[in-house]
Amino acid sequence: MNDDTMEKIVSLCKRRGFVFQASEIYGGVSGFWDYGPLGVELANKIKATWWKAMVTANDNIFGVDGAIIQNPKLWEASGHIAGFTDPLVDCKNCHARHRADHLADTDSTNLEELKDLLKDTACPTCGKKELTEPRTYNMMMKTWVGPIEDDSSVAYLRPETAGSIFTNYKNVQETMRAKLPFGVAQIGKAFRNEISPRDFIFRVRELEQMEMQYFIHPSTQTEVYERWREFAWDFLTTQLGIDEKNLQWHEHDENERAHYAAAAHDIYFKYPQGFKELWGTHNRTDYDLSNHQRVSGKDLQYFDDETHKRFVPYVVESSVGLGRLLLATIINAYHEEEINGEKRVVLKLQFELAPYRFAVSPLLKNKPELVEKARDVYRSLKKKHGNVMWDDNGNIGKRYRRQDEIGTPECIVIDFQTLDDNTVTIRDRDTTEQHRVKIENLV
Ligand code: ATP
Repeated sequence: MNDDTMEKIVSLCKRRGFVFQASEIYGGVSGFWDYGPLGVELANKIKATWWKAMVTANDNIFGVDGAIIQNPKLWEASGHIAGFTDPLVDCKNCHARHRADHLADTDSTNLEELKDLLKDTACPTCGKKELTEPRTYNMMMKTWVGPIEDDSSVAYLRPETAGSIFTNYKNVQETMRAKLPFGVAQIGKAFRNEISPRDFIFRVRELEQMEMQYFIHPSTQTEVYERWREFAWDFLTTQLGIDEKNLQWHEHDENERAHYAAAAHDIYFKYPQGFKELWGTHNRTDYDLSNHQRVSGKDLQYFDDETHKRFVPYVVESSVGLGRLLLATIINAYHEEEINGEKRVVLKLQFELAPYRFAVSPLLKNKPELVEKARDVYRSLKKKHGNVMWDDNGNIGKRYRRQDEIGTPECIVIDFQTLDDNTVTIRDRDTTEQHRVKIENLV
């Protein structure tokens, strides 16, 4: 992958309607992006694939959809108000702010270590060696609930979806009559006031997370942790078709781990800017439930009716950002090829993920008999598959290029032979080979 890959991906995403800059006509807003027609389709398919593998395929994993704003006590108990921080340095000369760990190119967030590493570093914005010492910066996004803007009405946009999973743990356990081990999964928005959003949709301020918290007996933590690590790797490689050579494991050391985690393994994906975090598996121990029990005063213990013992369950978490996953899926599928002397860009997405499953065209758009026949085929395929595109713009070669770029697996062309024998041409995206099939076999 060369250096301009990210530019090419950003340009393709805009040109073909995957991702647009939020408020683009006003110059955008840093860290926020809008998904366009194809981006929504791809994102929905990724979410549906994850939901099926994580929730509906399992007997003991249940879904929830919590509110974005919760009682601020939740974030006090979870440690986010005190500890959800990143290290920051200011430039005394130009007033730019930078993530200290990114500037020092380290995974550590230890302030003393960062101070040492950055002592001779110049500000990347103005080039002056006038950086302040690193300090912590809280990433929670604040707002007010109700008409009075004072301390009593302060609320936070959730920084992770996990919070409402912990507060609903008893509700789910009781309503679903669940016994340990069981999991609760959620897909939803989260907000982080990142110091420097960057790398397209990789680091944003409004993100969507897909998380699952698995509640267990503490004695099973190692085995369960390994199982969810394996799940993440399998999901990426088999369900999303991501090449193993684009993935690697990264284990957090003590200085990198989040405030709640006893162990953490990330899967890194090879983004154009390097191998970076995509999916985390964390052992959160009884950190969250114990803290919620303490702060709320409610009993959150689990009663084991076989051993007649009460205890606070441990939690193993599987957490991935949808935007990072969608970006990884597109980068992994992106290929530039030369076929018969012609260059093309092709997204080799898994068939199930492609925003459009088929494109249907009449060979010529000024021949009503071809158009009518093509419309018939289009309608029947659309009835069955939904995501079928009508494409009669430009010549056939141009249509194929366009469909290759958005990853449409098969293009169907209705020509004069169709009128005689009811067969159509199907062209395969990956091999570019064409063959004829009967319409009835197609539909
Ligand atoms: P990073 O170290 O990259 O800031 P993190 O370790 O803080 O990420 P987690 O809190 O473990 O991330 O969040 C779980 C997942 O949510 C991450 O693995 C990532 O896929 C996604 N995620 C986190 N922060 C962002 C962000 N600012 N933009 C996009 N996705 C994010």
